[in-house]
Amino acid sequence: MQSSHVFHRQLLQDMPVAVSGKGITLTDSQGKTYLDASGGAAVSCLGHGHPDVIAAMHAQLDQLAYAHTSFFTTAVAEELADTLIDTAPQGMSNVYFVSGGSEAVEAALKMARQYFVEIGQPQREHFIARRQSYHGNTLGALAVGGNAWRREQFKPLLIEVEHVSPCYEYRDKRADETAEQYGQRLVAELEAAIERLGGDKVIAFVAETVGGATAGVLTPVPGYFKGVRELCDRHGILLILDEVMCGMGRTGTLHACEQEGVVPDLLTIAKGLGGGYQPIGAVLAQNRIVETFRKGSGLFQHGHTYLGHAVACAAALAVQRVIQRDGLLAQVRERGAQLQALFQDAFGEHPHVGDVRGRGLFWGVELVADRASKQWFDPELKLHARLKRAAMAEGLMVYPAGGSVDGRCGDHILLAPPFISTPDELAQIVHRLRTAIDKTLAGVP
Ligand code: PLP
Repeated sequence: MQSSHVFHRQLLQDMPVAVSGKGITLTDSQGKTYLDASGGAAVSCLGHGHPDVIAAMHAQLDQLAYAHTSFFTTAVAEELADTLIDTAPQGMSNVYFVSGGSEAVEAALKMARQYFVEIGQPQREHFIARRQSYHGNTLGALAVGGNAWRREQFKPLLIEVEHVSPCYEYRDKRADETAEQYGQRLVAELEAAIERLGGDKVIAFVAETVGGATAGVLTPVPGYFKGVRELCDRHGILLILDEVMCGMGRTGTLHACEQEGVVPDLLTIAKGLGGGYQPIGAVLAQNRIVETFRKGSGLFQHGHTYLGHAVACAAALAVQRVIQRDGLLAQVRERGAQLQALFQDAFGEHPHVGDVRGRGLFWGVELVADRASKQWFDPELKLHARLKRAAMAEGLMVYPAGGSVDGRCGDHILLAPPFISTPDELAQIVHRLRTAIDKTLAGVP
């Protein structure tokens, strides 16, 4: 630890200094190593120090680091776009590159609004999104996000957004309904919100296909997104799926929406797109939206200085090529099943692990004071934060979520290990997690 002039999120906490990374391990300045079980924040899909990605970045730097998009496109941005479109959900034929997840969400919100202005429906001015969701920290993204704690002090600056329930089967599915019925109930709730606002007044429904940062991975129930898609279509509303965290292979398919059998109008991606080697995000857009702009105003009225940055595109292209070349999507599914079995062994009978849920290599663990009643721990204990610290002491990185959110509590942690993790490394991760949980709980009064 050392005093720091860097202005981090946490001002009262000394951070270890990360000095190197190799595979799924990070090393700090004291020589202590950490298994990166969360990929940072579900970012480092290829782990650290991948030689192919580094070589591609060097080659791009030697040739051209940067060209502003108001003057040029670049071969590498075009090639990355072609690669993404080759594997995109049906009808998506255009990519808009940005520098991260929040920028991708902001761009998607503005694309959606501009689309309706250009097709002569300027009266559409509302977004509907979900509680206990996270879409980023810039003002538009924060407005659609459904984390009351993050929004509270900035509320006067945020556009008004209608929020409906998240798909949170463990907590909200009633005992007398099936998962499918629960999903239909959520769709009916969305329909009521649309009717309240007026079906012709809504721009888009915004949702993470698999929820991430706010409640420790929320997987959709069968049929939920199909119902949402039908509802949006019936009212001419766009569906924006935010796969900044759950996308780009994390859940075992390139896009998480593939597993739901739905195609969004706009799809945001980031994190695993560049795997942390460079900051990059993107919006994939349905052809009809971009064609509307092309035949109408001729521009998308938005932009940032670093759109389509050549080195970022080179890094992302290399990451995506490695994933394809090495068959890593299949590996995510295989390792995901191994991880699930390890969780079952470690936590199947654990009195304070209420739920372990996820897909591929994207998992959430929810702690409870009492397993039978699903009672939360007192939020004042900030158990999720304590658990993160205990895990770091064990040489393990896990991503915490919790506290009191929208009147609900909860202590969750999120695991998103790199796609290259070996079975032995996964076993080590679960072993250290179990130790960290037990040590954390031993300190609870
Ligand atoms: N959307 C989702 C679903 C996210 O999980 C995040 C970040 O965690 C964001 C958007 C914001 O991305 P960024 O932090 O790159 O701005």
